[in-house]
Amino acid sequence: MLPRPAHKTDAEWRAQLTPEQYRVARKGGTERAFTGEHWDRKENGAYLCVCCGRRLFDSAHKYDSGSGWPSFHTTAPDAVGEKEDRKLFIRRTEVVCSHCDAHLGHVFPDGPQPTGLRYCINSASLRFEPHE
Ligand code: FE
Repeated sequence: MLPRPAHKTDAEWRAQLTPEQYRVARKGGTERAFTGEHWDRKENGAYLCVCCGRRLFDSAHKYDSGSGWPSFHTTAPDAVGEKEDRKLFIRRTEVVCSHCDAHLGHVFPDGPQPTGLRYCINSASLRFEPHE
């Protein structure tokens, strides 16, 4: 059974996060390409939600998409939800943490096998935890 979704007030999120993490993860912002902490990271480990600590992605599923954002072809089981995003003129699919609703990034259908998906994720929404 999954733990109860994490809900905090806006003030609590703001107190917990850096301004950049708050802007991206709680307000749906996007970090500039090639500026984040994890886009070029190659160590083995897990990528957790910066807000609630839920395990979202694993280095085993990370690949270099050339986009300047951390990119994964697979998520941890039941870790992310999808929402339709109409903020730009093109229709995109937003991905959010299934536990606390943090904005993570978007998913596109141009990724590698085995899924053919590219989860294009903001570093600011992720916390890296090396495997033991
Ligand atoms: Fe979360």
